[in-house]
Amino acid sequence: MKLTPQRYFELVPNTVDMTIRSELYHTNEFNFAVAVILSAQATDKKVNEVTPELFRIAPTPQKMLDLGIDGLKNHIKVISFFNNKAKNIIALAEKLVAENMVDKFPDKYHNRDELMKLPGIGQKTANVVCNVLWGAPNIGVDTHVFRNAHRYGWVDTSDNTPEKVEEKLIKKIPKKYHPIVNHVMVLHGRYVCKALRPECEKCAVAKWCPAKQ
Ligand code: SF4
Repeated sequence: MKLTPQRYFELVPNTVDMTIRSELYHTNEFNFAVAVILSAQATDKKVNEVTPELFRIAPTPQKMLDLGIDGLKNHIKVISFFNNKAKNIIALAEKLVAENMVDKFPDKYHNRDELMKLPGIGQKTANVVCNVLWGAPNIGVDTHVFRNAHRYGWVDTSDNTPEKVEEKLIKKIPKKYHPIVNHVMVLHGRYVCKALRPECEKCAVAKWCPAKQ
């Protein structure tokens, strides 16, 4: 018996809170994208320490430009790579102001390829934004998805980038589960199937798991 994606996505969603769409604090579509940009190589917890105040002052692209790059840096300086992230966020805000965006992305950006044309939005950010905001069937491969896809034997050692892992998962996981893959694997990876000392005794799929400890 194997831990197939089918079995995992049948059983694990019953054990995570599916009402939590994302643990990144946000108040609208624009600042969700900003929060995802900030979360690259940083924990959601760290990002959530600075975003409530930042988004109170600068909730929209225009307000972000009003705050300016130095003001923005001041708010996010505890987050890794804040200089670069600030540059990207200001460039993103500039582009969106030029397109008259208030706080929701225009419809044309509701797909990954178009989103990735925006400054500061790479594949992973675009996947998470599309998936969380519009339920798109992209698979955002973050540290939890990457680690556990390998742990369960769903991908090979040669799948050594998020892009390769996403490509493989899209083929292996039944289509109906694609919209929830990131959400379920992130929460299960964060609270149960953790990097160090996974809590196998409370795991719904322990019976089939090749990595059970
Ligand atoms: S049994 Fe342990 S290693 Fe396997 S999925 Fe569950 S928590 Fe992860």
